[in-house]
Amino acid sequence: MEDYSPTDLVKIWQQLLFDVKKQTTESYYTAFLQETQLLSLSSDLAEISVKNAFIKTQIVARFDKILKSAFEKQNFFISEIIYNANNKKHAPKKSISVSQLAQTKSTFSPIKSPPTKTNLNSRYSFDNFVNGFNTKEAFAACQAIAAKPGRQNLNPFFIYSGVGLGKTHLIQATGNAIIANFPNLQVLYITAEDFYHEFIEAIRSGSDFNDRFRKCDCLIVDDIQSFTGKDRSQDAFFNTFNALYQNNKQIILSSDRPPGSIKTLTDRLKSRFSAGFTIDIQMPDMETRAAIIRSKTEESNISFSDELVNYIAQNCHTNIRELEGILNNLCTTYELCGTEPTVELARSLIQGTRIATSNNQLSPKQVIDKIAHIFQISASDILSTSRTKHIAEIRQLVMYIMYVDLGLSYPKIGHEFGKDHTTVLHSVRKIKKSLATNDAHIKEQVELINRRLYA
Ligand code: ADP
Ligand code: MG
Repeated sequence: MEDYSPTDLVKIWQQLLFDVKKQTTESYYTAFLQETQLLSLSSDLAEISVKNAFIKTQIVARFDKILKSAFEKQNFFISEIIYNANNKKHAPKKSISVSQLAQTKSTFSPIKSPPTKTNLNSRYSFDNFVNGFNTKEAFAACQAIAAKPGRQNLNPFFIYSGVGLGKTHLIQATGNAIIANFPNLQVLYITAEDFYHEFIEAIRSGSDFNDRFRKCDCLIVDDIQSFTGKDRSQDAFFNTFNALYQNNKQIILSSDRPPGSIKTLTDRLKSRFSAGFTIDIQMPDMETRAAIIRSKTEESNISFSDELVNYIAQNCHTNIRELEGILNNLCTTYELCGTEPTVELARSLIQGTRIATSNNQLSPKQVIDKIAHIFQISASDILSTSRTKHIAEIRQLVMYIMYVDLGLSYPKIGHEFGKDHTTVLHSVRKIKKSLATNDAHIKEQVELINRRLYA
C-alpha cells in the first residue's frame, strides 16, 4: 500500500474529476462534484468529503460507478467509496486519512495484509429498506440469516423478482449486517457476471481461482440468471458451492426468476439451489410505494405534499428503481433551479422519461378487458353477479388490481361494478390476506396478471 501525502491526494482527485467532468453535464458537475475532496485513499477504500446529505445521495445515485471506474483508470482498485457529509471523519479501520498522514508521516508503517474485499456497498442496509407486505418474508429471512449465517433451513437462500424490486438491496444489506454482527466473518458479494470474468481472468493468469471464494463464510452471488450456457465457470461455481455448503457456510443467491426457470443453469445447480429456501418479491402495493417515497424524500429535506407522494406512488408502479429516478429528478430540479416539486412537475417528468407508458394510464375498463382476456372469460362475466368460484375470484383480483395499481378508491371501484364499496373493501382485503399468508394459487394469479397487464 502506498502512502499518500495531502498534495498527492489533491492531485489524484483533480485528475480524476477532470476525467469525470467529461462524462457529465456542466450543471451536474457544478452542483454535485465541484466542492468535493479526496480525504483518504487506501488499497481498497476511498473517502470523499461532500457538502451535505443531499449531495451525498445524489453522488451515490449518479456518480458512484463513474467515480470507481475513474479510480480504476488511474490504477486504484477501490471496492468502496465512503462519502462523508459534514466533513466528519469516518475513520475506517483500513484507510489512512489526510490528517493522520500529516501527523504520522515518519512513523507510519503500511498495513501488511491487504484488507479483505467484500464488494459490499454500505448504502444498502435493513434500516433504509421499507418493508411492505410484498417483502415481509424475504426481509425476515434475510434478518434471520444476518443473525445466524449458515443455518440449515435458510441455506442456500435464493431470492427472485423482476428488476428494481430490491433484491440487490436486501442481499447486500444482509452481507453488511453479517459483518456488523460478526466482524470476523468473511463476506463476499459478487455478480454472476463478475464471477464469470474473474474465472476467465484466473485461467488466463494461472492464479488460484478457488482460494478467494472458498474462504468465505458467506458468499453472495447476484443475478444468477446471467450465468451463460455450458461454460466452465458454472462447474467452478458448482464446486465452490459444494465446498462452502458442506462446511455450513452461508450462500445467498438472487435471480430474476425461480431456479427451475433459469434455462442456462445446469440441472445439478438448479437442484442444488432449489433444495434451499426460495422466496420472491412482488411489486409493492400503493401504500408501500408511498412509504418508500416518504422514506427516500426524508433525507433530502425537500417537502413533498401528500398529494404528490400519492401521485408518484400511483404512477410509478413498474419498479422501485424508476421511482427513485423520478425522486432524484425532482430533487435535482429543486436544487438546481429552486423549483418546488409539484404534481405537475412529477407528471411531466414521468411522461418525459417515458416511465409512464400508455399502460400506466389503463382505465378501469381496460383493466377489466385485459384481465378477462388473460383468463379467457368475457368482461361481462367479470361484471356479472355470477358466484361461481372461478369468476368470483377473478372479480376480486380485478378489484385488487384497480385498488393497488390504479390507486382507485373503494367507492370508485364499487361504481365500476355497480356494487357497494364494502364489497370492494372485502374483496381487496381477501386478496391481500391470501398474498400475506403466501397462498400459492393467488400469488400465481397476481403474478400472471402483473406480467401480462403491462406487457
Ligand atoms: P433489484 O436488485 O431487484 O433489481 P435493487 O435492489 O437494485 O433491485 O433496487 C432498486 C433500487 O430501489 C435500489 O436503489 C434500492 O435501494 C431501492 N429499493 C428497492 N426496494 C426498496 C425498498 N423496499 N425500500 C427502499 N428502497 C428500495
Ligand atoms: Mg439487482
